Amino acid sequence: QAKTEGRNTVQYFSEEMDARSRHRAQLLGALKMALARDEFVLHFQPRMNLDTGQIVSVEALLRWDSREMGKVAPDVFIPLAEESGQIIEIGEWVLREAIATLGRWHGLGLNHLSMSINVSALQLLRSKLAGQIRALVDEFGIPEYCVELEITESMVLSQNSQPLSNLWALKDLGVALSLDDFGTGYSSLSYLKQLPIDALKIDKSFVRELGPNANDNTLVQTIIALGHSLGMTMIAEGVESEEHLQTLRQFDCDEIQGYWLSRPLPAKECLEFIQAHEQSVRPAASSTPAA
Ligand code: C2E
Ligand code: MG
Ligand code: MG
Ligand code: MG
Repeated sequence: QAKTEGRNTVQYFSEEMDARSRHRAQLLGALKMALARDEFVLHFQPRMNLDTGQIVSVEALLRWDSREMGKVAPDVFIPLAEESGQIIEIGEWVLREAIATLGRWHGLGLNHLSMSINVSALQLLRSKLAGQIRALVDEFGIPEYCVELEITESMVLSQNSQPLSNLWALKDLGVALSLDDFGTGYSSLSYLKQLPIDALKIDKSFVRELGPNANDNTLVQTIIALGHSLGMTMIAEGVESEEHLQTLRQFDCDEIQGYWLSRPLPAKECLEFIQAHEQSVRPAASSTPAA
């Protein structure tokens, strides 16, 4: 009896494995064709400065709508693209598309706006990255400091020295660098201090915990104070409620991003959102005494 059950369990287990690896193979196959089929699109999520109320930056977030697989989340396909190496080509598409979009928006008068772009470990491993960005900012006529690259802690903790020297090359070029998902990795503050990083994005898992109980908030308050002591701009991601916002304000957080302000939006809608937002903050700006 027990023996049969055991055998069945093994059988179901391996069927599930088969189904999973088949799904994975299908995803990989579809991913290979995605660029040529024009299945990628960028969405953009605005980020707001808490002192001025202005939208200072937008983050480019990749979306994939596959002919065969339907909509696939970045958390699923980005790791696959990294493993298969396709992230290089996809990442180049993202850089061009994001910087081209910023060029158009600057042309419409929003020239204070920055574009934040996520890059993968593999992209940072290649020495070409700074040169590619340089060529793109020239082509689309935007200042290099309006491009901000988001990297993660693990990317600069590797034994390989290439990512670090590329980071310095990017810094020399003048692009802004920020550390994404901050707090989820293992880097020490003394190590971070040596890196040419301008901003820390506090991971949304910490922001989610912010609430009426002040004890729960101490961690975020401490992270912000430590970041400031290192001279970093502190950004909170995943800000979903008025309560999150008020708490972060109280802790002197510099900038916020999250559903409270806006979900990631297609380019046209994001542009309209920013323009409408500009209108709403302008009265406050013009109430300051004229020079
Ligand atoms: P990330 O860079 O940390 O991006 C923030 C994620 O949080 C996004 O998920 C965004 O949609 C989501 N988010 C924003 N506001 C809120 C909020 O208030 N609440 C909650 N719960 N979530 C919020 P998304 O778009 O699914 O992207 C997931 C991850 O995929 C990104 O995390 C990033 O690591 C990666 N990714 C996305 N686009 C690219 C890309 O072009 N290149 C690379 N290399 N990675 C990318
Ligand atoms: Mg990011
Ligand atoms: Mg993040
Ligand atoms: Mg401040």
